[in-house]
Amino acid sequence: MTHRTIVTNKELFRFGIKTDDECLHCGDKDSIEHSFIECVFTKMFIQNVLDWFTRVNMCPIPSTTEETLFGITASTLDTTIIRKFNYTTLFRRHYIYSSKLNSLAISIQEFISKLLIKYDLEIFFNRMSYSVKSTPPSSTQYRV
Ligand SMILES: [Zn+2]
Repeated sequence: MTHRTIVTNKELFRFGIKTDDECLHCGDKDSIEHSFIECVFTKMFIQNVLDWFTRVNMCPIPSTTEETLFGITASTLDTTIIRKFNYTTLFRRHYIYSSKLNSLAISIQEFISKLLIKYDLEIFFNRMSYSVKSTPPSSTQYRV
């Protein structure tokens, strides 16, 4: 999966950086699997994100564990919804990891507000990219 690029308290404890190998959120033994799949707080958070996503986008919940964890690759769903879901899934994993790394609690409200900013930025940069490609700069733009 993401071995050696992502560290949890398991690795930090093994290297003597942390004094224990417990999960910040629940106190069970930490690991990559625990952080992203098994932790009861992660499971609850993922479910909250899925509930929010399906409610806001009026679409069905992804049916498999793989889709829930890694995103959708093939589906009858609208392409925009799939891209939005996969972006949300990627950002959800980043949010879980960075929160844990900074010893912060995970919050669905905070996640949604950060995600909405990300959506706006993506739309902005897509428009910028489109306008740059479609309208080559004219020489008059460079005149002072
Ligand atoms: Zn945990």
